[in-house]
Amino acid sequence: MRADVECHSCGSRGMAIFYQVDNIPVHSCLLMPTREAALQYPKRDLCLGFCEVCGFIQNTVFDPSVHEYSSRYEETQAFSPRFTQFARDLVGRLIERYDLREKDILEIGCGKGEFLVLLCEMGQNRGIGIDPGYIAERTTSEAAPRIRFIRDFYSEKYAPLTADFVCCRHTLEHIQPTRAFVQMARDAIRNRPDTVVFFEVPDVARVLKEQAFWDLYYEHCSYFSMGSLARLFRSCGFEILDLTKDFSDQYLLIETRPGKGSAGRAFAGERDLDELARDVKRVEATLPSKLKAWQHEIQQRKTRGQRVVIWGSGSKAVAYLTTMGIGSEIDYVVDINPYKHGMYLAGTGHEIVPPKFLQEYRPDVVIIMNPVYCDEIRRDLEQMGVTADLIAV
Ligand SMILES: [Zn+2]
Repeated sequence: MRADVECHSCGSRGMAIFYQVDNIPVHSCLLMPTREAALQYPKRDLCLGFCEVCGFIQNTVFDPSVHEYSSRYEETQAFSPRFTQFARDLVGRLIERYDLREKDILEIGCGKGEFLVLLCEMGQNRGIGIDPGYIAERTTSEAAPRIRFIRDFYSEKYAPLTADFVCCRHTLEHIQPTRAFVQMARDAIRNRPDTVVFFEVPDVARVLKEQAFWDLYYEHCSYFSMGSLARLFRSCGFEILDLTKDFSDQYLLIETRPGKGSAGRAFAGERDLDELARDVKRVEATLPSKLKAWQHEIQQRKTRGQRVVIWGSGSKAVAYLTTMGIGSEIDYVVDINPYKHGMYLAGTGHEIVPPKFLQEYRPDVVIIMNPVYCDEIRRDLEQMGVTADLIAV
């Protein structure tokens, strides 16, 4: 227990430290044009603390000043049919539920803008997207004239931007101080009680249960469960309209509007404090041996002369390799995103290659960094005539 650490979500003092990895790259999705740049990229430590009061988990030694979210930040998952279908289904559901037709949409942290474009295309809406990593040339849509993109971080100065629907996806987990950010979003709509606010973040409860160490990395400084996310939004003056999981239960989705935190119903899965505390203890006790088992497996395959590649070059791959200290045991990392080909993985310096590279390389084993993509990866490999053992993490 570290008594001096303050929880960035509820403000309580004292966090139970349960997981530490030193010297990992501060970014995992930034494009690295050379192996040297990738190897020399700045590194810091991850030291996760659990708040027993609200269930929030944070990197207790996080330094936001080291981050550079810019157009070199390549996070898009839009090249995956599975992910695109998930986004389309979600947009369709949100449009139906909140009648988002010819409305004003604001997206905080819109990345390359794909989700906002979908909302504006499918509902004939108007949009404003804010993200320092936005790249204008990537947006080709009939809805583009109705959307304004601002290359910047969201801050108080954007409070005058009004909207019927505010969304913020996979952004909050990159932010500390966490509560101040949610409160800022709430304060911006203080005179618009009908505004619906939607946030989406990874679910840490699953990460703890599966001991998925590849989901714990420096870019993510804040980790939420159903309960800790609900408690944070209620305490900032939101009424929760819905709280669900999606994308094979990997993501948490919270739909809210301004209102008393006590208003609205309680949701299934919210009372998770005891279970989180148990799972945090289990991670502390057993994750080190799980790590050793993975390391052993990969080293064994290398010793047997097998060619092992990783499929998926996002944050999970960076965390998987750097946490285990894997280097030459694996030669390549595959990705379907053409913007990443010929680039290198931060921290370990692995080269990122296109799928067709495997036709010539002939791997024995493909480690899939997210089981949700197993079917589409198996299909791609079959079409190329590549036979390899598939291992999903
Ligand atoms: Zn707390």
